[in-house]
Amino acid sequence: MSTAEFTPRFTPSPDGLNAEFYAHLAAGTLRLQRCDDCATWRHPARVLCGRCGSERWQWAETSGRGTVYTWTVTHQALVPPFAGDEPYAVVVVELAEGPRLVTAVRGIEPAALRLGLPVTLRIARVSDAVGLHYFVPA
Ligand SMILES: [Zn+2]
Repeated sequence: MSTAEFTPRFTPSPDGLNAEFYAHLAAGTLRLQRCDDCATWRHPARVLCGRCGSERWQWAETSGRGTVYTWTVTHQALVPPFAGDEPYAVVVVELAEGPRLVTAVRGIEPAALRLGLPVTLRIARVSDAVGLHYFVPA
């Protein structure tokens, strides 16, 4: 899929901290938890800092910049909403802040993906409560 556009194929129904993560995306920002005591970023959302054990944290806005860390190309739609999209790449992007996101990169064919490719955040707002992140080549 080479188009830089992104059409959500389903809408998650998150709860708890995950609902907060998706709500920030719906509001137009990619925010991850950042520890108030040791400044370590973390994702997916969880209660305790994995580095220092602190329970104090905030949703901090990321730069939206990252690089392709790894990916896999799917040649067979495993669920109906993705039928017709194949082949498509499921990509892990390493953010400049450190955490990695399982996401999509649009605007580039799967065969053209490269390790370390610089990418920039885009957000598809699907409701008042949910936005979905994806990336395009920087
Ligand atoms: Zn910490």
